Amino acid sequence: MLRPDLLLRPTRAGLYCPPGDFYIDPVREAVDRAVITHGHADHARAGHSHVLATPQTLKIMATRYGAGFAARQQALDYGESVTINGVSVSFAPAGHILGSAQVIVDYRGLRMVATGDYKRRRDPTCAPFEVVPGVHVFISEATFALPVFRHPGTAGETGKLLSSLEAQPGRTHLVGAYALGKAQRVIAHLRDAGYGEPIFIHGAMKALCELYEEEGIALGPLEPATLEKGRRAGGERFRGRIVIGPPSSLADKWGRRFPDPLPAFASGWMSVRQRAKQRGVELPLIISDHADWDELTETVREVDPEELWITYGREDALVRWAELEGRRARPLHLVGYAEEGD
Ligand SMILES: [Zn+2]
Repeated sequence: MLRPDLLLRPTRAGLYCPPGDFYIDPVREAVDRAVITHGHADHARAGHSHVLATPQTLKIMATRYGAGFAARQQALDYGESVTINGVSVSFAPAGHILGSAQVIVDYRGLRMVATGDYKRRRDPTCAPFEVVPGVHVFISEATFALPVFRHPGTAGETGKLLSSLEAQPGRTHLVGAYALGKAQRVIAHLRDAGYGEPIFIHGAMKALCELYEEEGIALGPLEPATLEKGRRAGGERFRGRIVIGPPSSLADKWGRRFPDPLPAFASGWMSVRQRAKQRGVELPLIISDHADWDELTETVREVDPEELWITYGREDALVRWAELEGRRARPLHLVGYAEEGD
């Protein structure tokens, strides 16, 4: 069989397929042909000549970068395949955010799967991760690939926010969440928990929330979290309410204008107490869109590839774990992936 690194190999621009002449998630430079796993900015950039992605990812890219983000766009649904210069490419859900896909590359009997970012736990805003059968080389992300990272149940974290709201009804509960994926997921989990009140959103999230709604993900009543400059009195209506804004907005002027704000932050990194402290977060919510240690190792066992390649994060611990399990593993050391979205 073909040597795997003749089918996909790490290059400066990203993961490159020589026979197909395409890149997967090239972010350091614009390329002629790109296959994009999902819409986060550290995987999807504007300016490629040709982009292949799921219909939802193409919509997300158009919303973020404008309709002309690539000269040519090609949509591919989960389960369908296309042939690029003789190489078959298909998508399976990655469970990371709306439209996120694992890229399945088949060529001369060799099957390689690049996960992009993924997680295994329930997310009401996207299709669940699917285990692809018959994988020779599995290329896994490793954002939280340390045994200390074990994310708690999402319902419990959502419950913390609702309990705090009940206990401190005079305070504006200001939740930091990435505008793509995390914000919509937090809202959907709150609705699942029975919270039917309007949720106030930062302007940066409006278009993406509308896109999720168009894609059939009900987010319930959303209202703009708008405060007129210099008019503190108008802020009174936000007391006892949930306001969601991008992480950076929490500590800036925008966040400080709300009455008695209680800063919360929904992120996998909130399990690191120091990170919560640095950001001045009073209510850390450990809600992650990435697989934790147990999800990563269970996924590798389930997929059971002949070889494991590891990228985007902490590669060494997972390589060591794989070796102890008697698995072939190699770190890819791809650069330029700055973990947007968790
Ligand atoms: Zn991502």
